[in-house]
Amino acid sequence: KENNTKENNVAKIKVVVRKRPLNKKEIARKEDDIVTVDDNSYLTVHEPKLKVDLTAYVEKHEFCFDAVLGEHVTNDEVYRITVEPIIPTIFQRTKATCFAYGQTGSGKTFTMQPLPLRAAEDLVRFLHQPVYRNQEFKLWLSYFEIYGGKLFDLLSDRKKLCMREDGRQQVCIVGLQEFEVSDVQIVKEYIEKGNAARSTGSTGANEESSRSHAILQLAVKKHSDVKESKRNNDGNESRIGRVVGKISFIDLAGSERGADTTDNDRQTRIEGAEINKSLLALKECIRALDNDQIHIPFRGSKLTEVLRDSFVGNSRTVMISCISPNAGSCEHTLNTLRYADRVK
Ligand code: ADP
Ligand code: MG
Repeated sequence: KENNTKENNVAKIKVVVRKRPLNKKEIARKEDDIVTVDDNSYLTVHEPKLKVDLTAYVEKHEFCFDAVLGEHVTNDEVYRITVEPIIPTIFQRTKATCFAYGQTGSGKTFTMQPLPLRAAEDLVRFLHQPVYRNQEFKLWLSYFEIYGGKLFDLLSDRKKLCMREDGRQQVCIVGLQEFEVSDVQIVKEYIEKGNAARSTGSTGANEESSRSHAILQLAVKKHSDVKESKRNNDGNESRIGRVVGKISFIDLAGSERGADTTDNDRQTRIEGAEINKSLLALKECIRALDNDQIHIPFRGSKLTEVLRDSFVGNSRTVMISCISPNAGSCEHTLNTLRYADRVK
């Protein structure tokens, strides 16, 4: 299969798996680490099983991905493998998306958090290169959340947002605040502000945020167009400038939440169904993209509708599948790896 449609030597779709180390609790419980990273692109899950007569045995499941990152791989290396190669393409009209997929506690947020900051560092450095300097490119940041199928701006007091599509099928999130970011310190402050605004209910931060998709976007816009759009001022700052390229970082809802469809609590059931729908729709869109299909099934969910303009034309997708190594997570780990396998 022609998976590596290479332009600028960057694969159109890249699927990477990251395994986190056993945590203190798992070690205290003497849980086994059942995932072995066999080399840079192979891993094996050693599933503990019991025969009918209760003798224990191990069933092996082997997987192959574009890259497999073991527990000793640093966030810096994750950046170098996943996002860094995409950065130059952002200036060549590419819309890129980087997802973290996996069960709650598998390391999605740990993996995603540092990436936009590193990307902003590199993008700002590019902006100052002589070739780009006279083109008046500027970097813009926005950060929002999809929770229960609704959009909330994480940088303006969780203001509820809605979507509109213009005549050129460009997705516009009405009212989403975008901020021009000229240095990395400012990017850091916005990220921290947005993180603090992520869904946190009485049940605790991780519990609630595991039911939402957090989307941080960095857009490179052409500043010379700014004057023009200011002239026909519509009072909406986010419309200023023309998007040259952008990259979206998406910390997806916990993949196990999609199974919360039989929960006793009605709200939990509704959210679970929405998450299930969005993760399935995402997989379908990436597969369609990979097969160079003309029709990409965006309509399947709010998540994929929001990402519509990132799935057409010159797009790049990186899926980072995060997995827990402990025996107790085996079923979720296999589900995550099968999902990632199907995306490929
Ligand atoms: P998720 O966002 O998928 O629910 P988190 O990113 O919050 O999971 O990770 C759960 C816990 O595991 C956190 O305490 C985090 O610091 C830790 N963790 C995750 N990945 C790693 C890693 N690769 N190395 C060390 N600690 C990690
Ligand atoms: Mg998280």
